[in-house]
Amino acid sequence: MRNTQLVLASSNTGKLRELQALLSPLNLVVRSQQDFDVPTIAETGLTFIENAILKARNAAKHTGFPAIADDSGLEVDMLNGAPGIYSARYAGPRATDQENTHKVLLELANVEKQRRTARFQCIVVYMRHPLDPTPLVCQGTWDGLIVDHPRGENGFGYDPVFYVAAYGCTAAELDADTKNRASHRGQALAKLVKQLS
Ligand code: IMP
Repeated sequence: MRNTQLVLASSNTGKLRELQALLSPLNLVVRSQQDFDVPTIAETGLTFIENAILKARNAAKHTGFPAIADDSGLEVDMLNGAPGIYSARYAGPRATDQENTHKVLLELANVEKQRRTARFQCIVVYMRHPLDPTPLVCQGTWDGLIVDHPRGENGFGYDPVFYVAAYGCTAAELDADTKNRASHRGQALAKLVKQLS
């Protein structure tokens, strides 16, 4: 795979930063789909897997390079798995991370600590070309609890409210390397890197 190019099917800067770091062992030229003006595709699937395939196929089609897409999100048990696949647009189509997080906190306002269980899910898909009939699909899961006030400045999305018991802090209080070693995305990418190596 040395010196081969591949494209990341995402425009989310937080996600791109983590994916670039996690793919560095492959020694590939990893470019964002933004470098190619790839049009955004509607995430019309009802699962992380469907949406990841839609995004990877779209990026491969518009660039001519193999593509990796990540579809990920937060599942909160007391909200029956919401925001789930709607994590990026939970408070509306153009909602900010802060607005999405605030909505989850409001919905959990009267829920006691031990019932605020949640997890991040990540599916990564690798497609060699747009018609690849056997995409590589890898999954990672990261368990935590939703705290009642945001804490920490690192990461992105729901990290400031996602408490990780193993570290005694929120994901936004972890440095980037520690988050990447433990996170749903880190786990999924480790599996993918192993398969691609
Ligand atoms: P996607 O671009 O449709 O996959 O949306 C993913 C959304 O899930 C992000 O915009 C975040 O709101 C949330 N999310 C996924 N991974 C993380 C993470 O590592 N930390 C915090 N939020 C995340």
